[in-house]
Amino acid sequence: MTLFSLIFIVFLIFIVRKQLKESKTLNKLANTDTLTELANRRFVFAYGESKVNLAKKNHQPLAVIIFDVDYFKTVNDTYGHSAGDIALISIAKIANEYVREHDILGRIGGEEFLLVLPETSAVKASAVGQRIRRAIEENDFFIKDQHIRITASFGVSCCHNNPAANINDIISAANTALREAKTQGRNQV
Ligand code: GH3
Ligand code: MG
Ligand code: MG
Repeated sequence: MTLFSLIFIVFLIFIVRKQLKESKTLNKLANTDTLTELANRRFVFAYGESKVNLAKKNHQPLAVIIFDVDYFKTVNDTYGHSAGDIALISIAKIANEYVREHDILGRIGGEEFLLVLPETSAVKASAVGQRIRRAIEENDFFIKDQHIRITASFGVSCCHNNPAANINDIISAANTALREAKTQGRNQV
């Protein structure tokens, strides 16, 4: 091999590696929520759909948890929108502590989060929801030199051995449960 071909091959490897790195970065950006760096709505729904299909095939349960920060408009109105953003980042970090290897946590709306838990029963998912709820409730949010208390309400749903199950219906059931948690007084699963 001539020196020229060696240089050419090294150059080619460099270009391919650079392109792979760039496409990985683009892919990550397209799937990530910029504020919290969690998965975005599109990605978490797509992941959920693929895991529902797998759960049906393997006759395994799959659960989802939706949670929404309580009275978040008041946090924004009292401390400002950027303080609200900081609180959302902290909430994402707290909840992320409870995410296991095959789960995914995403931000699906302003102050609304979705956790998909493959191979998880409703009972186990409710326990995870309670742990996250408690961790948020007990966290000391420090905003503009003030300690404030923030809570969230949770809805859980699960599918098991339902050949007609799809991610939209499972999320919609969790959303109904979340609305119930709100009307029953918030800060509950
Ligand atoms: P509830 O307990 O019923 O959920 O009350 P809430 O005040 O949390 O609900 P509401 O839907 O009235 O208000 C949600 C607020 O979330 C309003 C909106 O300004 C705020 N919000 C949405 N997205 C963001 C964001 O990215 N950053 C900040 N700081 N606030 C956001
Ligand atoms: Mg809210
Ligand atoms: Mg909301």
